[in-house]
This record gives sequence, structure tokens and C-alpha cells, in this order.
Amino acid sequence: MADLLVYSEKTQAACELAAKGREFAQALGLGVSAAALGEGAAAAAAELGAAGADRVFVSEDPALEGWPADSVAVALAQIAAEADAKVVLLGSTRRGKELAGRLAEKLGAGAVTDVNGLELEGGEFVAARYAFAGATVAREKVAGDVKVFAVMPKTFSSEGATAGAGTVVTPALELATGMKVVERRAKEGDAVSLDAAPRIVGVGRGFATREDLSLGDQLAEALEGVVGCTKSLADFQWLGEDRIIGLSGAKTAPDLYLSVGISGQVQHTVGVSSAKLIAAINKDKDAPIFQMADYGIVGDLYEVVPAVVERLKVV
Ligand SMILES: Cc1cc2nc3c(=O)[nH]c(=O)nc-3n(C[C@H](O)[C@H](O)[C@H](O)COP(=O)(O)OP(=O)(O)OC[C@H]3O[C@@H](n4cnc5c(N)ncnc54)[C@H](O)[C@@H]3O)c2cc1C
Repeated sequence: MADLLVYSEKTQAACELAAKGREFAQALGLGVSAAALGEGAAAAAAELGAAGADRVFVSEDPALEGWPADSVAVALAQIAAEADAKVVLLGSTRRGKELAGRLAEKLGAGAVTDVNGLELEGGEFVAARYAFAGATVAREKVAGDVKVFAVMPKTFSSEGATAGAGTVVTPALELATGMKVVERRAKEGDAVSLDAAPRIVGVGRGFATREDLSLGDQLAEALEGVVGCTKSLADFQWLGEDRIIGLSGAKTAPDLYLSVGISGQVQHTVGVSSAKLIAAINKDKDAPIFQMADYGIVGDLYEVVPAVVERLKVV
């Protein structure tokens, strides 16, 4: 039976794709296969089955350690052949985007990355993604029989997913590639996972100096949250790229997003539009962020933030 194939090196993102993939597959009379590759693959298999995969192709081959795009593309091309998959859904993570083109080339497919909406219209997939720096949304179809879509994490939800059979398959992969890993080094700087954070304090250019960001840290600490930022602050190298929220960074879905000194340009807000509650502190009452905020304080962050932190300490 032909399958729809899903894969992401991030298990949660792969589960979201398996859950939604199951809906698509049912509409098209297909099964759902998932690939779990590299370290932790065996452990991820059960989650993928629970999220909707009928078959989970599992490989912890050392060549897949660290998910190098070229080896993963070779593996996925072989798995797609075994699953007779004409549609592949990938997570549009940094690695996933690199992978999409490589896999599409091997499958003779068309690929769309950064997809933030995917639906079936008359049996055809239509992918949505931001265009013109987030000013508009392009809706795109892939011509040809084989299609690869890299979908941004959290576009779909795996909550309440219908489980698939979750049968584990061990594929016989041939993973010889031209690449040789000579060394692995941990990334410098602090690591943060904005994708999964329940509370995020977003900081922007309203902060006059890098040192002043300690105010944002205090606020995040009082809220038991993490700090994310606009691209501007990462461009200044005040914070690492991992902290960027928006078109060029993380797409988040926290319970609370509290923006401080952020104007609210669309390239930033696309990364927080799924937040359950948005609050904003900005001294300009006409700042666009207030148009999407559930709560707002018009005021100088240098006065408001210390007062909010004090109040939170009391609560
Ligand atoms: C292709 C492309 C991709 C991009 N991707 C991203 C992205 O992924 N993420 C992202 O964030 N941006 C992105 N940008 C940049 C984006 O367009 C904006 O320039 C950026 O988000 C603005 O950052 P900001 O809100 O920190 O700064 P500003 O727009 O300068 O806003 C600063 C705000 O702080 C307020 N303020 C100033 N002083 C105080 C104070 N004392 N107290 C309270 N408020 C104060 C001001 O009123 C103002 O509203 C992208 C741009 C392009 C072209």
C-alpha cells in the first residue's frame, strides 16, 4: 500500500505531522509511514505510532548521528521507495529545510519549505507560506507526482491524535555518502528552546543597552519563563540567534507571551500569533503590538518592568 511519509529530527514536530498526515492519508486512501532516524529513534517510534503512524521505519545507524542532511536524505529516499511514498512531510526546522531540497532531488520531486498551512483542495495539496518578508501569504501547489512539504513545527497539533498501528520496520539502509564527520563541537553560547517554552518574555529595541536586558531576565525569572528577542537584538549580537522569534527564528506557542519594548512588526509577530495570551509593554500607544495584545501597558519599560517584577515577587 502506498503511504504518506513523515519525518522530523524533532519528535514532537514529527508527531504533529503524523497526526495531520493521517487525516490527509485517509482522505487520499493512503497509509501513514514515519521515519525515526539517528539517536533516540527507537524511543521515538512508540510516540509516532500513537500520533498516527501505521509503520515506523527506525534506524539508529551511526551515519545518522547528528542528523547530517545528506545521510538523512539518502535514508529517507530509500524509506520513501520502500513505503511507496509520493508525498513526504518534513519538519521545517533548520535541518529540515536543508533536507527538503536534497530529498526532493533524489525523489525527482518538487519541494516547498517554510509551510505554515497545508490543506487538500480537490485531492491536491495546497501549501501556504509567508512571502514578501511576511507581508502576504503565498499559496502554492507542487506540480508533478512526487511532493515534499517542509512544514513549520506547531502548524498542526498532535493532541487527540488517532493512533496508527505503529509497526516498527527496520529498513536495510545503504548510507555511504561523500561526507566524513571529523569533529563535533557544542555550539557556543547559551542554548534555549523557545519552541517548547510555556512562558516567554520577548525583548526588543526598546532596551537602550545590552546591560539593560538584565531587566528582561528578571522578568522572565519571576514568571518562570525564558527570554526571546526580535531579530534586531540578535543582529546587534546582544542575544544569540536561537532567541529570535518570528519569520527568521522560532515559531512559538506559549501560554503567555509578554513583549517588552517591541514594536510588533509582522516579521516578529508571525512567531507569536499562536500564543494563548499576549501582553505588551511599550511606551508608544500606537505601537502595532497593541493591536494583537490581549493586555497592554503603555509606559516606559524602565519603570514598568521593575514594578511588575516586584509585584510578581509578592504574588
Ligand atoms: C526578511 C525579514 C525577516 C525578518 N525576520 C524577523 C524575525 O524573525 N524576527 C524579528 O523580530 N524581526 C524580523 N525582522 C525585522 C522586523 O521587520 C523588525 O525590524 C523587528 O522585529 C523590529 O524589532 P523591534 O520591535 O525590537 O524594534 P523596533 O521596531 O525599533 O521597536 C522598538 C519598540 O520599542 C519601543 N520602545 C522604545 N523605548 C521604549 C521604552 N523605554 N519603554 C517601552 N517601549 C519602548 C518603541 O516604541 C518601539 O515600538 C525581519 C525583517 C525582514 C526584512
